[in-house]
Amino acid sequence: MTARVLVVDDVPANVKLLEARLSAEYFDVVTAMNGREALAICERAECDLVLLDVMMPDMDGFEVCRRLKSNPATHHIPVVMVTALDQPSDKVRGLEAGADDFLTKPIPELALIARVRSLARLKMVTDELRMRVLTSHEIGIESPEREAVADTGRGGRVLIVDDRPASYERIAAMLAKEHEVEVEAEPNQALFHAADGNYDLLIVSLGLESFDALRLCSQVRSLDRTRNLPILAITEPDNNSRMLRGLEIGVNDFLIRPIDKNELLARARSQVRKRRYTERLRDNVQMSIEMAITDALTGLFNRRYMESHLGTLIEQAAARGKPLSGLLIDIDYFKAINDSHGHDAGDDVLRDFALRIKRSIRGIDLACRYGGEEFVIVMPETDMAVAAMVAERLRRRIAAEPFAIAQGARQIPVTISIGIAGLRGKDDTAAGLLKRADQALYRAKRDGRNRVVPDAA
Ligand code: GH3
Ligand code: MG
Ligand code: MG
Repeated sequence: MTARVLVVDDVPANVKLLEARLSAEYFDVVTAMNGREALAICERAECDLVLLDVMMPDMDGFEVCRRLKSNPATHHIPVVMVTALDQPSDKVRGLEAGADDFLTKPIPELALIARVRSLARLKMVTDELRMRVLTSHEIGIESPEREAVADTGRGGRVLIVDDRPASYERIAAMLAKEHEVEVEAEPNQALFHAADGNYDLLIVSLGLESFDALRLCSQVRSLDRTRNLPILAITEPDNNSRMLRGLEIGVNDFLIRPIDKNELLARARSQVRKRRYTERLRDNVQMSIEMAITDALTGLFNRRYMESHLGTLIEQAAARGKPLSGLLIDIDYFKAINDSHGHDAGDDVLRDFALRIKRSIRGIDLACRYGGEEFVIVMPETDMAVAAMVAERLRRRIAAEPFAIAQGARQIPVTISIGIAGLRGKDDTAAGLLKRADQALYRAKRDGRNRVVPDAA
């Protein structure tokens, strides 16, 4: 993957210099000479990362950054501010504007490449997640981008790992107003503590006395439960090589002693905000996957998932010479339930019916809502005779216990009809099996309903 970096500076010589250095490291480079041009390029999603000069006429870098970060369409693009000034107040202004990082001119070669690489990597992760989520409109929830834009970054759960009381007490006191802070003074315990605590940010002092702090950072990155936990490392000045090692290992951000309180707070907020954004994206991916395969009303698998998965189950059964059976279930006179008790009552029956199905099948069985009031249960390693017993038991249970509707105010009797089909040899297909189950179901309906009919081979 080649990340595409947008270099924004009003001085052509500065643009040329950065362009040359980034191209030499095989980054794609696009350039802009002012803020408006930069905003337009970002809106068109033509870059993965922005190197943004602070001092520009018309619109300065702070303003460009603020606009990028408050626009849901561009907010996820990492921004590195480039400034000639080395004042903490400037850094803080940049971070307040939402910048992801800061570099001071003249930009040290290694720091430039390390930061660009590390932010490009993060962008790749979020892009991957963004690609896999359904649009929030489809899911029916607030978009992660909009929530991120509104997120102050306060109220995070922060774990400080530091074995020097004078140091951690000071850091904890600075953070306490904005976050829930815990301290781990035993570096040996830090990894477990971080894994168990559901934290939004880990702050690690690189000057641990009893432990190699970079080793801890690398362990945090390799453990599943902490892999995505942001790390803010605190380091002594003039410790560039350790900083660069840290960035390579996956440390997200650095703070150099003596610690400026406002800078610490701004960096912590920025990391917490990013963490929450990626967590929301991850939750949405999870939800999108679930929504793509489940039926919203009943929570059973949907028809599309069942049809594709049934093919796989049939192949496996055929390859191993095992039986497989399918039940096609249809609720009797369901239209009449809707007509006499209302559509909501019908929905109650469908939900309760799905629950009863779930309770009466094995873990390896596949239950799905096939259509309105039709359901399919696929049972691997089950022949027709056993399938008929399962179906008969289910039919009897449904008929024996009436369904509660209207929050339990009334009970109504419900019956079902079931058609059964079994796998027939190697060349059988999902469509063929379902068709035979449907023909059997048709006979069950024709012969009076509330009955189980096997496909007559
Ligand atoms: P049969 O015994 O022949 O199966 O008769 P039936 O009334 O159950 O069958 P029919 O196919 O005529 O009617 C099915 C009804 O199911 C029609 C439709 O309005 C209703 N239905 C489909 N999906 C839903 C749903 O999600 N909720 C509710 N409440 N009703 C639904
Ligand atoms: Mg029906
Ligand atoms: Mg029907």
